[in-house]
Amino acid sequence: MAAVVEDGVIKSRAETDIVDRTFEVVAKTVVATIREVLGSKKDGISIGIGAPGNVDLANGTIRYSPNFGWHDSPLGAKLREQLALPVFVANDARCATLGEHTYGSGRGTANFVLLTLGTGIGGGIVAEGTLLIGNSAGAGEIGHHQVRATDGFYCNCGKVGCFEAQASGTGLLRHALAVAPSFPRSELLAEKPQKLGSKAIRRAAEAGEAHAVAAWNRYIDDLARGLANIIAFVNPEVIALGGGVSSAGDFMLRAVRPKVEELTTMVPRGQTRVVTAELGNDAGAIGAAVMAHRGGLTVSERS
Ligand SMILES: [Zn+2]
Repeated sequence: MAAVVEDGVIKSRAETDIVDRTFEVVAKTVVATIREVLGSKKDGISIGIGAPGNVDLANGTIRYSPNFGWHDSPLGAKLREQLALPVFVANDARCATLGEHTYGSGRGTANFVLLTLGTGIGGGIVAEGTLLIGNSAGAGEIGHHQVRATDGFYCNCGKVGCFEAQASGTGLLRHALAVAPSFPRSELLAEKPQKLGSKAIRRAAEAGEAHAVAAWNRYIDDLARGLANIIAFVNPEVIALGGGVSSAGDFMLRAVRPKVEELTTMVPRGQTRVVTAELGNDAGAIGAAVMAHRGGLTVSERS
């Protein structure tokens, strides 16, 4: 998705599905989609790109992206050459965090964490008002801290029991499959396995279906473990939950908040608000625009 953003508001957008994931084809598609949304605009335009994977912020090269199977792909250089405009590239979850912090659920907070609970878990941390980047732009890879290192699910990254494996939307599906033998006549199992998704499980849990409730409770336990760990690491004022699973809203928040409190030990309790994110799928585009406007992910807000 390419969008024209002014002061945190999306003015227009254009979307193109990416089918072929080779670098040359994706770069060409990105350039075409940006041109479509920009039209003849040129003056005062900077481009911000949120991309999956680890990004060299100095030049916008994607060091590696498991989603696309890329290694050292010079996306920033390619777009600068094609568009003749300033281009800034960063990880998509870091961009979403910057967007939510500047214009959404993190507005006005100095210490903030965004977690996107989707197919995986993307995240980002704002500490003392600044988005954490880390030594090699890897700060905020919260999805790959282990919450069930000995008895968890296999993670796509190769470890066992990562927060992402346990508490993403896919994690909820894994929990449902793991407890399935206890519920042989479950309504969920009447669905074709390939059609069973996190949304159906969450809805069935809300309706009180026993199999879904058992899966949901395990899911909430693992989500709470991760959130309590984050509180111990960064003691944020707000943790915002975005992504597909967070559309459960209050049903999720009511379940997870008391468990997070219980697992919060050395940090004073009741000091972190767990809320749902506000910008939805637009957070990444809005954050990428903030980055472009500031002239980089690491540059603090212009006064
Ligand atoms: Zn992992």
